[in-house]
This record gives sequence, structure tokens and C-alpha cells, in this order.
Amino acid sequence: MTRCVAQTSNTSLDSVPASFPHRLLQASQKVAASLTDVMYPPQCTFCCEQLASVETSAQLCQTCEQVLGTCATNSCPRCALPVSDSTAKRTSCVRCLHQKLHFERTYALGPYQGKLQEAVVRVKYPHEHALATSLGRLLASKISLSQSFCQTNTVVVPIPTNWLRRLVRGVNTPDYIAAPVGRNWHLPVFSDLLHCCRKVNKQSSLSPRDRLRNIRNAFRVSKSYNIGGTEVILVDDVMTTGATVNEAARVLSASGASRITVLVLARAA
Ligand SMILES: [Zn+2]
Ligand SMILES: [Zn+2]
Repeated sequence: MTRCVAQTSNTSLDSVPASFPHRLLQASQKVAASLTDVMYPPQCTFCCEQLASVETSAQLCQTCEQVLGTCATNSCPRCALPVSDSTAKRTSCVRCLHQKLHFERTYALGPYQGKLQEAVVRVKYPHEHALATSLGRLLASKISLSQSFCQTNTVVVPIPTNWLRRLVRGVNTPDYIAAPVGRNWHLPVFSDLLHCCRKVNKQSSLSPRDRLRNIRNAFRVSKSYNIGGTEVILVDDVMTTGATVNEAARVLSASGASRITVLVLARAA
């Protein structure tokens, strides 16, 4: 990569030498956090049940973690489509065989149905960014991939949206999913590596053929990056026909990315 990952300075109070004023500040911070917890008890970001213990500001309760993080066992290794047991043992499903795919594998929390579908629909709204972050954490903990990648040569890239759509919606959901994935797997997240350079109609309202046409040439790799030989983990909220991630993977591949893996919350049939 020609562009280096900026080393963010650690401004946590824990890193400051423990002089008296700083210790006082630390103590005040802890008291303020405790008071906030009393006034606004931390809740599960999906079902709103009060949490017994809090590890982060975006957390699911144990029940929701189990319900949402089922991870379909029988799925196509290439596109994560739920398939029969025998098909899952092959390298790709029938649908993948007829497509030119630019990514190697796809991982999903599970099929786009039930509670997971409900969660994925909700994360598209700006006020649900904490839920999106929780699901990103769950994805990172359920999919054991961190050992499969070279830590110094792999980047996490969320699927971008056009600036106008981002302005209207106020949020790009894949950014919130990708952030905890990068954090948990100790990989950099480059939200500005891929750009959506034109307006794209909502894919969900189109036929499979129109989806391909709609997304064609919608992405470009930022000139600030040289991704030759880099492995990329593409992150999106849901995968339906795969047209969007495949187009993003095509552009990344054309720019020299060596291996592209797709990570989504849910896989729609
Ligand atoms: Zn819950
Ligand atoms: Zn497949």
C-alpha cells in the first residue's frame, strides 16, 4: 500500500502519567460513567433488555447473540447461499457456477430471515448505528477468519454509498459493521478506499438482470491507494444476488487486489 495507516495517538486517560490531576480526572470520569449507567441503564441494542454487565457501548444481550449469530452451517462457501449438506461440501453452488465471481469466499451470520432479517432492516436507519456496530462485533466473533489473513497485507473495506444517498440517509451502514471487524481482527479499515462515483438506484427494487446494469461501473478505487497484492475483506449488510459486492470486487481486482473475501450480516436467497 502506498498510503500508510495513520497511527492515531492514544489519548486515553489510562495512557497519561498518573500525576494527581490526572488521577483526579480519571476518578471523575469513572464516577460520571457510573452515574450515566444509573440514569440510563445499558440496554441490548436489539431487544432493549437491560444488560447485567457492560463491555462496550454497543452490546447485545446473550439471548440476542444466540438468536442473531446462528451462522448457517450448510452454505455455499463461495456465496454463502444456504444449500443442502452435499452442496456445502463442494467449492460452489449451482448459482455460482454460472457467474463470473471476483471474490473467493463469502461469510454471513446467517440467512436473511426471522430476527436476523429484522435486525438487518433496522440497521439501515441512522439511529440504529449502535445495533450495526453490535452486529459487526458479533460477525467478527462468530466468523473465525482473523488467522487466515496476513495482518500486514489485509484491509477491511466497507461497501460505499453515493455521497447524495449518504447525505439523505445520514449514514453508511457498512461503515459501522466494518469498524468492529477491523478492531477485533486487528486490521485497518479503509472507508475511503472505494468510492461510489454515481447515483445507484435501490438494488432491492430491481430484477437480477437490472441489478447488474444498475451497479456496473458504480465504484472506483481511490487514487490515494495502491492496492497491488493487497487482500481485501469487503463488508456489506446483506447480500442478495451478489451484484453489488461482485462489482466492487471486480474493481478491486482490476486495481491489483490479490484476494477478496466478502463478509455480510445476512445472505438472502
Ligand atoms: Zn437482546
Ligand atoms: Zn454459491
